[in-house]
Amino acid sequence: MPKYKHNIFSKLPNVRTTIFTTMGQLAQKHSAINLSQGFPNFEPDPSLIDLVTQAMKQGHNQYAPMAGVMELREMISEKIEQLYGRHYHPESEITVTIGATQAIFTIITAFIGSGDEVIVIKPAYDCYEPAIEVNGGIPVFVQLNNTDFKIDWEVFRSKITPRTKMVIINTPHNPSGTIFTKEDMLELLRSLENTDIIIISDEVYEHITFDGHGHESASKYDGLASRTFVCGSFGKTFHITGWKMGYCAGPAQLMHEFRKTHQFNVFSADHAVQKALATYLKEPQHYLGLNQFYQEKRDLFLDGLSTSRFKIKPSQGTYFQLVDYSDITQEPDKVFAERLVTEHRIASIPISGFNTKGIDNHLIRFCFAKTNETLEKATEILRKL
Ligand code: PMP
Ligand code: GLN
Repeated sequence: MPKYKHNIFSKLPNVRTTIFTTMGQLAQKHSAINLSQGFPNFEPDPSLIDLVTQAMKQGHNQYAPMAGVMELREMISEKIEQLYGRHYHPESEITVTIGATQAIFTIITAFIGSGDEVIVIKPAYDCYEPAIEVNGGIPVFVQLNNTDFKIDWEVFRSKITPRTKMVIINTPHNPSGTIFTKEDMLELLRSLENTDIIIISDEVYEHITFDGHGHESASKYDGLASRTFVCGSFGKTFHITGWKMGYCAGPAQLMHEFRKTHQFNVFSADHAVQKALATYLKEPQHYLGLNQFYQEKRDLFLDGLSTSRFKIKPSQGTYFQLVDYSDITQEPDKVFAERLVTEHRIASIPISGFNTKGIDNHLIRFCFAKTNETLEKATEILRKL
């Protein structure tokens, strides 16, 4: 390589390799049980794989339509209407994306510019802030309460200014495993009345809620749906995180603007996978069975930890479980998580990096989207700490 050194003004000077990648690599290096990055360690339904193969053999190998294969948009529309009672027009109100990450990035890029404020609820999944900052926006944080992760709506309201353009919510919530209640949704609705603030509702774990709690989609509420992009991910729902397939649904006027950016950002998503998903979604049990499937895994994991020294509030949704390790050690969470890998060969995610000012409450996150055998092996080790 020639030695010329570019003078780069980084738009994202603070961005580092994500904690998910870092912990995943550390797990690999130490042959640890990897409960860090959120992905299933089991295979998707073989019939879904067959459907993709079939679609490829049938010749769906060229560009899909920009907004997505129409049969898939129709199925997404039907699913949302069945579950949440809101009709999104497949033609103008649903777009298929390269995972929820791209939907979120594209929404932010389409609507956020220099000096615009975006309210982000912390701890937050890591893809929101860089997307805001690279577009010149300013993330404004509302920190959730440390004990039950409830939002203080007075504090939330105090953060709204004339420059607030957008709010990002995430329920079921990664990393805390808590969910927004109906009352939370109504508070949100009331807080934004008489504003033009747009909402991103990150609902990628919509089908993973426990103990009979339903999912409160923003699409259920008139006063929210009219200003919201609901973002979904087939990766979470069908155990195919590597296929990177998601979508967003929102009112036509907003979606029209979204597509101006989407068209030149990715143009369109994988054709054969979209064809396959359109067929696979015809059977609602494929997603309605997910709550039970993951509740059994959560319970197996919790049972395995019941005699451990971790303090635990059972996850209400997502495939993540937070645990408080303060009865074991007072080490910072990153130090403890690293030691768990190097000394005990279990990888987790420390939570401080997702909080404002790196607040460390001695919490780490485990992903329980794993085979029962893996979960049993992991809890056997964790019980001994
Ligand atoms: N939002 C949250 C809260 C997530 O946990 C994830 C999972 N990585 C995403 C968005 C991104 O989803 P996708 O893999 O479909 O891009
Ligand atoms: N959503 C996954 C998690 O929370 C991470 C995906 C990623 O590594 N970007 O673990």
